[in-house]
Amino acid sequence: MYDIIVIGSGSAGYTAAIYACRAGRKTLLVAGSVSGGQLMLTSDVENFPGFPDAVLGPELMERLRKQAEKFGPDIVYDDASRVGFQTRPFEVTVGEKTHQGKAVIIATGASAKWLSIPSETKFRGKGVSSCATCDGYFFKDKEVVVVGGGDTAMEEATFLANITRKVTVIHRRDKLRASQILQDRASKNPKISFIWDSVVEEVLGDNKVTGIQIRNLTTGSETVLKTDGVFIAIGYEPNTSIFKGQLELDPKGYIVTKSETETGIPGVFAAGDVHDFKYRQAVTAAADGCKAAIDADRFLSEHYSL
Ligand code: NAP
Repeated sequence: MYDIIVIGSGSAGYTAAIYACRAGRKTLLVAGSVSGGQLMLTSDVENFPGFPDAVLGPELMERLRKQAEKFGPDIVYDDASRVGFQTRPFEVTVGEKTHQGKAVIIATGASAKWLSIPSETKFRGKGVSSCATCDGYFFKDKEVVVVGGGDTAMEEATFLANITRKVTVIHRRDKLRASQILQDRASKNPKISFIWDSVVEEVLGDNKVTGIQIRNLTTGSETVLKTDGVFIAIGYEPNTSIFKGQLELDPKGYIVTKSETETGIPGVFAAGDVHDFKYRQAVTAAADGCKAAIDADRFLSEHYSL
């Protein structure tokens, strides 16, 4: 029987495990078959505090893993396939084994949606990105495109306009999905222009991105646009499939939290991108993991005598 089971090993999950162990709680970290979360897909991370010379995303996660291991949680590098939150203690099944925990912290993160064209995969980290806050600075005074028409696309475009020379938003329809205020902000920005009714067919280049091939969905015409970077901002998918029917999820699948990290089930907490679609940063996810572990520790103190 564990005091706390942490599911997920991005910066939220590892931080939650560090805090849970250091609070003296017997902790299981279900780190997943592909551990490390979204930072494993990035290159230089320049905005995580404490790394003045930047750190590679995978290296940062390796450091977090070592730091978590130091405090002695049990760790399984496999995916949770089922959870049972209707009975106490809670149950988390990994492979053939079902683990029991008095509290659970869910930190399974979210995944950026991609266009799913081969050239996009080839250039990921070499000019194709899904995070302007993370990678925008590498395109200082250059030209970039943002794909998408939602709030994320408008925020990314506006953020990038402060750094780059020119931003072109490419949207598959002639109307944006984004909230009016974010649309207005982007539309009024002289550095941002729009290409409507169009999709990206290919990302072009040799070792780095030099352009994209675009198809106009209304006319069928194909054009090439020169660009240094491509930011894909077509939405995120929270990794919550195993929690359907167990926890309240919003229409996009994010876990609904009441105050900070508390879900609708007392003793089950959510941390990081699995419930936070607003900030989505490694540092905010880490902070959230810390909060969830403190909340779980206090929950245990209130509900289980030592
Ligand atoms: P979203 O609202 O789902 O928008 C995704 C956009 O990408 C849509 O314009 C969609 O086109 C387009 N798209 C989807 N798949 C595509 C594909 N395969 N090829 C080309 N285009 C594609 O996602 P989001 O912008 O990430 O926002 C997610 C949620 O977070 C929303 O609820 C949003 O309000 C919220 N959010 C809020 C803030 C804020 O309040 N500051 C900031 C960011 C996000 P269509 O329009 O044609 O469907």
